[in-house]
Amino acid sequence: MSDIIIIGGGVFGLSTAAHYAKSNSVTVIDKFEIPSPLSASTDYNKIVRLEYTDPVYAAMAVEAMDYWQGKGDDVYPAGLFQDTYSHCGRISVVPPKSSPRYDFEVQSLKLLREEFGRCDSIAEHINDLTCGNVFPEFEKSRAQGLFRFNPDCGIGLAAQSLTAIKSYSKSLGVNFIENDGVMSIDSGSKRVKVTMESGRELLAERVLVACGANTPSLLDLGQSVKSTGLYVGHIQLSVAEYEKYKNMPVVFDPTIGYFFPPDRATRILKLCASASSTYDKSSEALLPRYQCLEPDKVKSIPVQSVAQIRTLIRNYLPDLEFGPNGQLRDVIDCKVCWISDTSDSNFIIDEVPSKPNVFVSCGDSGHGYKFLPNIGGYIKARMDGNLSPQLARKWSIRDSDWTSQIIPWRVEHKRKHIDEIEWH
Ligand SMILES: Cc1cc2nc3c(=O)[nH]c(=O)nc-3n(C[C@H](O)[C@H](O)[C@H](O)COP(=O)(O)OP(=O)(O)OC[C@H]3O[C@@H](n4cnc5c(N)ncnc54)[C@H](O)[C@@H]3O)c2cc1C
Repeated sequence: MSDIIIIGGGVFGLSTAAHYAKSNSVTVIDKFEIPSPLSASTDYNKIVRLEYTDPVYAAMAVEAMDYWQGKGDDVYPAGLFQDTYSHCGRISVVPPKSSPRYDFEVQSLKLLREEFGRCDSIAEHINDLTCGNVFPEFEKSRAQGLFRFNPDCGIGLAAQSLTAIKSYSKSLGVNFIENDGVMSIDSGSKRVKVTMESGRELLAERVLVACGANTPSLLDLGQSVKSTGLYVGHIQLSVAEYEKYKNMPVVFDPTIGYFFPPDRATRILKLCASASSTYDKSSEALLPRYQCLEPDKVKSIPVQSVAQIRTLIRNYLPDLEFGPNGQLRDVIDCKVCWISDTSDSNFIIDEVPSKPNVFVSCGDSGHGYKFLPNIGGYIKARMDGNLSPQLARKWSIRDSDWTSQIIPWRVEHKRKHIDEIEWH
């Protein structure tokens, strides 16, 4: 019997395993080999930004950034995350003053400068994506607008960082059971029983469910979380193109999408289409629909999202619009990537009512990756009963209002039922 079983080896689960590894016996169970194809973070890269107007998340992001930039302590050795991180900066298109995102950006940067001494070298450039020739690779860009360059931002090499924290936790004695999903959880007063797809049963004193968008398949959380599918595509760069673009920052245009520096190993450049998403009407958006489990039903991404990605390339990276053979470059490996949404974009980290010793962490709302180094500390505190009442309240399982909430940092999404998508 383990002290703790963690179901789901994604960002929240692995971080919690690492935080418990030195003090408790821990088993992590995942339906697939970690990094799992179901994890929202099994990906080339994710943005590690500091901008939040909520002082809680801003402080957590600053704390996480210290680990990404090399900090070690009694939880992690120095440099564990640094090898899977690049402090490449981010260029954002400044949104119109009338949009909620405009105020969000101004206020979050003010908070970071005044309270945390970060993001103090912001520069703005009109119709100049090279940012005063700091990024000559964008010389041919046709994009117009006010561009804000924030050097205090980076990217995590997402799947690689999951592997790094998994290997480190393993070296501390965490037990991993992979390729076997959990089917059900029965809680008693002293121990919790977990039953797996293989029929295997395991017991633990406490269980954490950290299954990301798939969490409602194990726990009834009512309407407090919903699953949202976001759209991602990629292009393959040649050696010369990789050399040209390898040191670029993330470029973020809230109305069209955003893209990342190309991956070192594969020379693949990832692009995300923003302002659109999908959900599953038949489960009232409670559950995700994974391509790897339903390849006949969930195919690539919508035709319109590929068009959006092509617009992004045409405006920002015109010399990559056509391949070396002169043909329109293929947008490859298009996929729907699922997040666990809450109506206010606050996480859920709580004990499950009427299931003693069963805890849940989900509701990442598309911004959980950056907290890979430190979110586990907060989840552990909640499970051990040490989390501040303010945070316990903030992250409790709560009623949701899905009709009126506007999240200023999120671009409003046109949502489409997954079975109505015209696939690329
Ligand atoms: C397109 C996209 C872009 C994003 N960009 C960013 C970004 O730039 N910055 C940022 O901070 N965040 C970003 N995110 C959000 C980030 O990826 C998530 O917040 C994070 O991955 C959530 O972690 P999690 O542990 O809750 O879930 P996940 O990482 O999804 O992990 C869930 C795990 O549970 C396992 N599992 C599921 N069901 C079972 C079962 N029944 N039994 C056992 N195991 C199971 C899965 O295999 C998986 O390993 C993005 C997300 C998407 C989709």
